[in-house]
Amino acid sequence: MRAVVTCEACGFRQEVAREIPQPTSFHIICHRCEQSLRVSVTPADIRTAEAMLRTRSPIA
Ligand SMILES: [Zn+2]
Repeated sequence: MRAVVTCEACGFRQEVAREIPQPTSFHIICHRCEQSLRVSVTPADIRTAEAMLRTRSPIA
């Protein structure tokens, strides 16, 4: 899945351009104000992302 993180300091929304196959947490640096942002991906987030992917995919 791909995550979109909103900076708590300046409100800048940035997409995390990495695959996140399972629940995890990590830090990224805000591209605008360079604040360190903690990103948490929960099992629910993974399920939501997978459900969205399935909805978009054509039926094979
Ligand atoms: Zn920021």
